[in-house]
Amino acid sequence: MVDGNEPVRVGVLGLGKMGSALADALLARKFETTVWNRTPAKAEPSRKAGARVARSASEAARDSDLLVVCLADYAALSTTLLAEELGMSLRNKTLVDLTSIKANELKELVAWAKRNGISLLKGTIPGYPADVRAGTCSILYGGPRRAFDTAIPILQALGGSPVHIGEDHAAGVEMGRAYYSFLFPALVAFLYGAALCHRAGLSLDTYAHGLILPPLKGSVMSGMIERLTKASMARRYDEDVQSSLNIWRGAFDNVIDCADTHGLDPAFLTAAKALMDRAEAEGFGEKDLAAVFESLIGDRR
Ligand code: NAP
Repeated sequence: MVDGNEPVRVGVLGLGKMGSALADALLARKFETTVWNRTPAKAEPSRKAGARVARSASEAARDSDLLVVCLADYAALSTTLLAEELGMSLRNKTLVDLTSIKANELKELVAWAKRNGISLLKGTIPGYPADVRAGTCSILYGGPRRAFDTAIPILQALGGSPVHIGEDHAAGVEMGRAYYSFLFPALVAFLYGAALCHRAGLSLDTYAHGLILPPLKGSVMSGMIERLTKASMARRYDEDVQSSLNIWRGAFDNVIDCADTHGLDPAFLTAAKALMDRAEAEGFGEKDLAAVFESLIGDRR
């Protein structure tokens, strides 16, 4: 139990770009941390940083008081998490799921957690792994307020100031999707403007640092745009990638699904997403989002 009297043991399932940042953040704040990843080699940096590496997801769940999960998508989540044995290991414990999933998938997760007596906090991360490591990313949560309050020292370790949006598990996800509805097209729009500068022979540096970035100073978004600018100017899309284009596309599909669920015309979102899809079709799926710029300027056509 996370009751404030005993040292808390935290588990992390998934050590991709985001999961490894979450594990690093916990280790940096001295939490006893057990990690598991499907591809064991990716657990090595966490082990070196002081984590115990579990041999299975169930072992990590059994040896933790609170389990954090951050996997690629619902397919990964259901294969890894939604097993009977793992459910039993989490009875009376708190599960913090940070995987990007759709509304109907969340319903299945909530039902599974309820059946197994697990207290579920469902979160959305409005930033990059670098923001989580720096403690400047306010993760948004939906789920029982009591579980949120009890877990607060751990949630604070995960990126900074956590925000409880509502008791409904979907609350944090939907607030996150409202934010993403703004953020994702805005980042694509930034790259579109950059492509226009490139085609018109204008300075990308002036566009980014003279016009776009000054009013955004200090925000998570400004850090993201700085990274897009650097990658676009260098035309290098494989350095310090915080989130692959494919992960962006999966999360964007979930934002579009949310708009659909609430009867909003998603045309505005699908237009921006189509530019990401085009870049993926051109072979940039594992590259940085800035590869949309390369796809737009289309020098290879
Ligand atoms: P990533 O680097 O691609 O990592 C994906 C993780 O999922 C890896 O641990 C991978 O294990 C695991 N995985 C994939 N398929 C699996 C399967 N079938 N069974 C078990 N494990 C599986 O992705 P990420 O950037 O960390 O993103 C993870 C989640 O965080 C996504 O839902 C994403 O939307 C969300 N998120 C990411 C960011 C970001 O900036 N990166 C920001 C906000 C939210 P292997 O190592 O074995 O492949």
